[in-house]
Amino acid sequence: MNILIFGPNGSGKGTQGAIVQKKFGVAHIETGVIFRENISKGTKLGKQAKGFIDKGELVPDDITVPMILNRLKEDDCKDGWLLDGFPRNLAQAKALYEALEKEGIKLDYVIEIILDRQTSKNRIMGRRLCAKDNNHPNNIYIDAIKPNEKDGTFTCRVCGGELSARADDQDEAAIGKRHDIYYDTATGTTAGVNYFKERAVVIGVDGLPSVKEVSEELLKKLG
Ligand code: AMP
Repeated sequence: MNILIFGPNGSGKGTQGAIVQKKFGVAHIETGVIFRENISKGTKLGKQAKGFIDKGELVPDDITVPMILNRLKEDDCKDGWLLDGFPRNLAQAKALYEALEKEGIKLDYVIEIILDRQTSKNRIMGRRLCAKDNNHPNNIYIDAIKPNEKDGTFTCRVCGGELSARADDQDEAAIGKRHDIYYDTATGTTAGVNYFKERAVVIGVDGLPSVKEVSEELLKKLG
């Protein structure tokens, strides 16, 4: 099963992606996570990507596209993948679609989580990352996934691990830039989603309800 998941930053895309990934037992490939791991390890890729990420800009396609196409060839992707954070623009969407066509790889589903810009922004600013596991969702502004709080300090609601906020999550200008890219229907991410609407099965879900309600709706539609 090969799946793409789209949604603006802050729509719960990572959380829903983790649920879908578990259901189908496929590899969960998150572009943002790959970049952040490379930055913390100080790799060449990390050094190239950091400046763009800190400003909320896209890492250039000539770095990102081959990185992802190579990642999809790794062993853990043999039984399928869920791609999150890529494609991020129309050019990446075309490059991915053409590469899959060329290799005869079927795209089973494209998921689109639909959420307005203001709600997405609020959710981003409340998001906290667990030091132990990236798939432990915590958000200080969403009751259902609110971290544990003791003496004014938040800890992971799943494992008690240390939490941190991503620098780019607290920067309103950077959030604005990321959303400009997402909601751009000419060449941005929404243009990429629309490109797939003519070429694949696109499943749209409303991202406004609770995590549980959104996942139920999504899993029902995925069959
Ligand atoms: P995310 O964790 O998905 O919000 O990604 C964090 C940052 O990584 C983005 O703001 C971009 O700077 C970069 N990034 C993630 N995915 C892509 C992509 N497909 N193309 C270019 N840059 C990306």
